[in-house]
Amino acid sequence: MLAILYPNTALDSDEYRQTMHYLEALPGISIKVQEIQGATQRLTEVYLLGDTKSLDIDEIEALPAVERAIRISDDYRILGRHKDSHRQSGFTYNGVEFSQTNLNVFAGLCAVDVPEHVEMMMQALEDNNEVCTRMGAYKPRTNPYSFQGHGKGCLPWVFEKAGKHGIKVIAMEITHESHIEEIDTCLEKLGNPTGVLLQVGTRNTQNFELLKAIGRQNTYPVLLKRGFGITLNESLNAAEYLASEGNANVIFCLRGMKTEAGQPHRNMVDFAHVPAVKRLTRMPVCIDPSHSVGTRDQCPDGILDVMHATAQGVIAGANMVLVDFHPNPGKALVDGPQALLMNELPAYLEDIYLCHDMWKKRQAIYQRMRGEITE
Ligand code: PEP
Ligand code: MN
Repeated sequence: MLAILYPNTALDSDEYRQTMHYLEALPGISIKVQEIQGATQRLTEVYLLGDTKSLDIDEIEALPAVERAIRISDDYRILGRHKDSHRQSGFTYNGVEFSQTNLNVFAGLCAVDVPEHVEMMMQALEDNNEVCTRMGAYKPRTNPYSFQGHGKGCLPWVFEKAGKHGIKVIAMEITHESHIEEIDTCLEKLGNPTGVLLQVGTRNTQNFELLKAIGRQNTYPVLLKRGFGITLNESLNAAEYLASEGNANVIFCLRGMKTEAGQPHRNMVDFAHVPAVKRLTRMPVCIDPSHSVGTRDQCPDGILDVMHATAQGVIAGANMVLVDFHPNPGKALVDGPQALLMNELPAYLEDIYLCHDMWKKRQAIYQRMRGEITE
């Protein structure tokens, strides 16, 4: 069972003390307190673990600090919705809001290569009023002889450039827990010019020790990619590993599934699962059209497959787009063939925001149908 406290309940208030005193005395029940920092308020959730079947919901809701109590299942205990549409979703990090209702675009380099390309990318983002990007420093590669990323060596100049161009959040994959400290040390030394969203790649979705290590820190939010060869349930449970260790600021990323043939796209695009993940959990949902589609193939209508796939995800309510761009794809060290070009950025963004508006209009159609709104 879960007891949700009134927003902004002070931990030194009488209401909180009396409530916790009662809950802690329940026989055979252990208590886990989880703090969630939302966009406008702090929320405290108290998980009652053990045999809670005999507990009376009304009794728990009568406690002075408890707003409401809900029965939860063991699956995705913290991140799940548990049929409660009021559970708060999302968080704010470094001034950027992440939720199940808004949208952030993370266009950038799959892998950091040379300062000139990073500069061009960030300049283009600044010119288009974008404050987020993707920059891979640690690259998990299928082939051990492929470029593995510049690692911590590139962090100082990447972070400095981000600060210079007003980039607030960089999605950056890490493949080992020691990378958290490398990022931390570097950002601190530079006076935190930017922020980092720690990315867990599809090859590491079930690297439970890495997940636990990332979950133990609360400095950085996490972007967890769906495993490309496991069930959705298994990937959502992987996300719960992060939350169970204390970090519930998790965004879930769909990035396509492996199929035998790998044609016509690098992976089978799975963006029809955007609404399903939003229904099952309260995580904001990201789509990665680059690693799903994996090519620059174009439909006869003049629109690239990768742009069509993006539109499909965003119109279904995606909250984040993670996408590969490169100023000179022929020189990219990783994933050049799927990168979009600098001059495609403004039109692509226009398309994305149009689709996000369409999603809102689609919502309104059904709200009118149910009589929830009248205009
Ligand atoms: C990436 O985003 O660069 C990446 C390696 O993605 P994935 O883990 O989805 O393959
Ligand atoms: Mn890539």
